[in-house]
Amino acid sequence: MARKSKYDKVREAINAAPKINTDVDINIIRSNTRKDERKYKCSCCGDSWKVQKSNFSETKSILYQSNNGFITICNKCRDEYYYQLIDLFSGSEEKALAHMCVQFGWFFHDMAVETSRQTSTGRSRIGNYLAKINLNQTSMHGATDIDTIKFDYNNRTEEVIESAEHLEELQSKGLSNISIDILETWGSGFPDIDYKILNDHYKMLKKYNPNCDNNQEIFIKSLCHLNLIQTKALKENDTTGYIKANSEYAKTFKQAGLKTIEEKDNSNDATVGVTLATIGQYTPEEYYKDKDLYKDYDKLGEYIERHMCRPLKNLQHGTDERDFEYFVPDSNDILDGDDDE
Ligand SMILES: [Zn+2]
Repeated sequence: MARKSKYDKVREAINAAPKINTDVDINIIRSNTRKDERKYKCSCCGDSWKVQKSNFSETKSILYQSNNGFITICNKCRDEYYYQLIDLFSGSEEKALAHMCVQFGWFFHDMAVETSRQTSTGRSRIGNYLAKINLNQTSMHGATDIDTIKFDYNNRTEEVIESAEHLEELQSKGLSNISIDILETWGSGFPDIDYKILNDHYKMLKKYNPNCDNNQEIFIKSLCHLNLIQTKALKENDTTGYIKANSEYAKTFKQAGLKTIEEKDNSNDATVGVTLATIGQYTPEEYYKDKDLYKDYDKLGEYIERHMCRPLKNLQHGTDERDFEYFVPDSNDILDGDDDE
């Protein structure tokens, strides 16, 4: 499944192999403009100011917490450093920015990078980026470089599972923990995380609708697909996609005649024993490695074979196959015994 979004350009640039211009030496000269040292000094050029706010950038990293939450290099050095890093990374603004984010504890977010490209005049690219990461659409995901690590981990694009063999290969590397039954239920072509979303939603719908018929079962699967689309749209801030999937979900749900409150699993009252749906809620069948474990657990199958199928077979074919446990011995068997005496 394609996971293209307009922020892919940033991701591609970040994931690309680095091209380093080894001729570039980062060099920012020391300032001589201020002989009298003021309270807030730039740790790079040495210039100093009475106020921090307009001369230094803010950071949420705890490494700067006792510096009033400001980085220690001035805005001029910050911009200068950024442009030299771009040269070092052979023109990659994304890699330069990502490097600075790690150094100064800023959150790196694709959307903020993309939107900060439309630089407003009078503001540097970095200044613009720092303004963007404070906006809700980015800040809801994180604030610091540590959050970047977590965010990237949670949003890593996983390998799409192509087939049962491919799944086995991924499992052997510890890269997937979905079962073959789940793959068979949903078909191949999704990454691991999508199967989990599909399966969780499926279980939830089945829990509230234990008595659904085959028709509804088809609808339930459609709903799981729609839920997956919604989850993705939400993640990618794709409002239109989310609304579309949402309205389609509502329509399908109504059409299917499903419920959102738990209905009584009345199949229990109608038949002897418990239904697979009930068992499945607590111990889903797909998790059993030994598939024979609960096959004919009540010995009903065996009973039918021994006491119904066997006599019918004898009747039809004129054979005399006997039950191994309950049978009346032939009179010959008794006579044989008499002869021995
Ligand atoms: Zn400076």
